[in-house]
Amino acid sequence: MSDILFPRVAVIGIGLIGASFTLALREAGALGTAVCGDADKMNIGKAIELEIVDGGSRSNADAVRDADLVILSTPVGALEKVALEIAPHLKKGCIVSDVGSVKGAAVKAIAPHLPEGVFYVGGHPIAGTEDSGPEAAFAEMFRGKWCMLTPTTETDPAALAKMKKAWELCGASVVCLEPSHHDKILATVSHLPHVIAFSIMGTADDLAHELGGDVSGYAGSSFRDLTRVAASDPVMWRDIFLNNREAVLELIARFKGDMARLEKAIADGDAAEMEKIFTRGRALRRALGSPRAVEPLEIKA
Ligand code: NAP
Repeated sequence: MSDILFPRVAVIGIGLIGASFTLALREAGALGTAVCGDADKMNIGKAIELEIVDGGSRSNADAVRDADLVILSTPVGALEKVALEIAPHLKKGCIVSDVGSVKGAAVKAIAPHLPEGVFYVGGHPIAGTEDSGPEAAFAEMFRGKWCMLTPTTETDPAALAKMKKAWELCGASVVCLEPSHHDKILATVSHLPHVIAFSIMGTADDLAHELGGDVSGYAGSSFRDLTRVAASDPVMWRDIFLNNREAVLELIARFKGDMARLEKAIADGDAAEMEKIFTRGRALRRALGSPRAVEPLEIKA
């Protein structure tokens, strides 16, 4: 057990990530009281029933009153609306953070609306599952995972240090990087894989209609492993692609180039080229360590 870091925490959007963060902080003994604000009455009820939070409200403004930490864990597209709703009700000295998967857009959506004396720190835990809602949450979610914090020149160093401590208490390793740098990295390691997974499910279904029978039902582990993330929440992913458009489009263009190279090798029956591409891919995949087995990125604040 550690000392209480935040006497009162308000989580806006008590879904998978917000609820897991609350559970992890609770388990670490780092919070006093936790309340939530959520658009979904059922999620509030479940979060109270599961003892994730002590209370909740459908009014985000009511939920943040007297909070020392407000953590925004709604889909990225709702962040600006929520920031505007809560801003007049925040206590002086409060830290506002978020867990949104796109950071450039999150900074723009939240920081300009906060009053003097309230400190914003952008964050994104690189952890999660394809499930949603508080009942899918678990306290161990962030253990052994990265949490990226994305300070800007405006970020208060003491608030940044406190958020770093909070995520470390949740079991994460914290790295700080520029929002745009974060968005390019995530476009590669998260957003592009989702583009592929969502698309392949549709491709297989279209073929099933043409063949007049099942296709994906016969899938072995390769199709299942590759498409697991296509079971993720469509609203969350819609918002990610709307808000990281430029970086994702750049990655899709690069990927199409690589696909075209492989397509040509297959069309030409170019065995040497195929072997070269597959040997490189296998070596890179086999060298991919556990999530934390990389050199920490340079801190760019
Ligand atoms: P989730 O389980 O769907 O939870 C989001 C919650 O926010 C839902 O209860 C939703 O209610 C509520 N909400 C939506 N708009 C709201 C508003 N205006 N005011 C109050 N509550 C609102 O989603 P999640 O997976 O935890 O994702 C939350 C955030 O974490 C997203 O920004 C996502 O990019 C980020 N993230 C997700 C993952 C992941 O693996 N899932 C990983 C890292 C970061 P409704 O159900 O009524 O919409």
